[in-house]
Amino acid sequence: MTAAYDPNNIFAKILRGEIPSHKICEDDESFAFMDIMPRGPGHSLVIPKKPARNILDVDPTSLAAVMRTVQKVGRAAMKAFDAQGLTVQQFNEVEGGQVVFHLHFHVMPRFAGIALKPPAGPMESPEVLAENAARIKAALEKS
Ligand code: AMP
Repeated sequence: MTAAYDPNNIFAKILRGEIPSHKICEDDESFAFMDIMPRGPGHSLVIPKKPARNILDVDPTSLAAVMRTVQKVGRAAMKAFDAQGLTVQQFNEVEGGQVVFHLHFHVMPRFAGIALKPPAGPMESPEVLAENAARIKAALEKS
């Protein structure tokens, strides 16, 4: 049994516009933005707009919409960063590695011979995050 959804989690605040984010794109069901502590260049997050704590309680229709955006953003991020691979990660509950309790998928372009940085590393500068969001957005517009 999963715990209840907390509407005051940080991604819910981002969705409500109460705190800023570096947005890549959104549609009726999903929202994509840059991870503030990236594990590599172009690391982004895709979340449902509908409240869901994680994969254990998400509404399947909402999950399907989020996965469509994961694929779209993943393809665009690979093009934008000239990546050779893509890692998609998603964590559930504290024991599963989850830190923020609004469902999110990590979308991380990967490069030959380059490991991901550890989680919870240094915060990226707003300038770099804005530039990286713009690069992915431009690749999306071309797709
Ligand atoms: P996890 O719940 O383990 O998947 O980790 C949460 C992720 O959210 C980490 O990669 C953090 O860097 C990221 N994160 C936390 N706060 C923010 C924020 N305000 N904006 C963007 N990303 C965030």
